[in-house]
Amino acid sequence: AAKSLGRNNFQIYEVSTEQAQQQNLALKSRLRHAEHNGELRVFYQPQVDAISEDIVGMEALVRWEHPELGFIGPGFFIPLAEETGLIVSIGEWVLRTACRQAQAWEQQFGLRLRLGVNLSAVQLMQSNLLEIVSGVLDETGLDANLLEMEVTESISIKAAPNLIENLQGLRRLGCRIAIDDFGTGAASLDYLRKLPADRIKIDQSFVRNIGVDPDDEAIVRTTIEMAHRLKRGVVAEGVEIEQHLRFLQANHCDELQGYLFCRPLPPPSFEKLLFERQRLLTTAAP
Ligand code: C2E
Ligand code: MG
Ligand code: MG
Ligand code: MG
Repeated sequence: AAKSLGRNNFQIYEVSTEQAQQQNLALKSRLRHAEHNGELRVFYQPQVDAISEDIVGMEALVRWEHPELGFIGPGFFIPLAEETGLIVSIGEWVLRTACRQAQAWEQQFGLRLRLGVNLSAVQLMQSNLLEIVSGVLDETGLDANLLEMEVTESISIKAAPNLIENLQGLRRLGCRIAIDDFGTGAASLDYLRKLPADRIKIDQSFVRNIGVDPDDEAIVRTTIEMAHRLKRGVVAEGVEIEQHLRFLQANHCDELQGYLFCRPLPPPSFEKLLFERQRLLTTAAP
């Protein structure tokens, strides 16, 4: 089985710094050809309604299947892609691949699942972002209302020219905006105030501590309430156990995402999940 180099898996760094730098350089130059060589994959993780637990959306998550190293997680190679500027073409490839897939599933299953796609700060500063997104929507036929752009809080509003304009433009196209990893950035509340966001995604570092740390529980509860008062939806990330689920349900979180329901899946496995769901629904119908 392929060894994964996810965010918790930095064994290739357990070598001298010099060796690590060499390895980084080698990976960067290899990454340059990853898209063209067909080594990039998009996995999909379901988002479920907190009450019915029915699938209502999915997040597209990129992976790099390196011929020798196996699957490399985005937490590791996205920063390399950002440093090299490769994120612009990789990001567009992910967007196009995911929109095409979502449109195919919509037609196949008659489902209107929302699709979340992560945007890097580098993409959000691009002056032609809107042309790229509207081009992809035209080309794939996906309804813009189903596309939700996930923007991470680590982007500084001041340091990012075009950010607000791009987000407003995306909304004019009909897309939704979600603030990802909410609570971990330096400017959470400023973000909520200034960004035209439809939803916030509570970071998994808070969700993980439900049942462990009363302070984090208070933060989760207050974040949900604040989001609702501001007329924003809330998704909790990293829902791993029943206790998380019960807490989030009791505190009126709207949607949930996490290993308790499903890991990110390659397209054939995600499709099986949709088949199974359809089968259950048709056999359960009166
Ligand atoms: P994210 O957008 O916050 O995505 C959620 C991450 O949490 C994913 O990690 C997902 O696999 C993981 N996750 C989901 N449920 C659970 C759970 O119950 N427990 C735990 N421990 N983890 C869970 P992944 O796929 O490794 O992605 C890491 C990050 O890489 C993403 O965080 C996102 O910031 C970035 N990323 C992924 N795909 C893309 C992409 O296409 N473009 C850009 N720019 N960034 C991406
Ligand atoms: Mg995300
Ligand atoms: Mg997140
Ligand atoms: Mg993130």
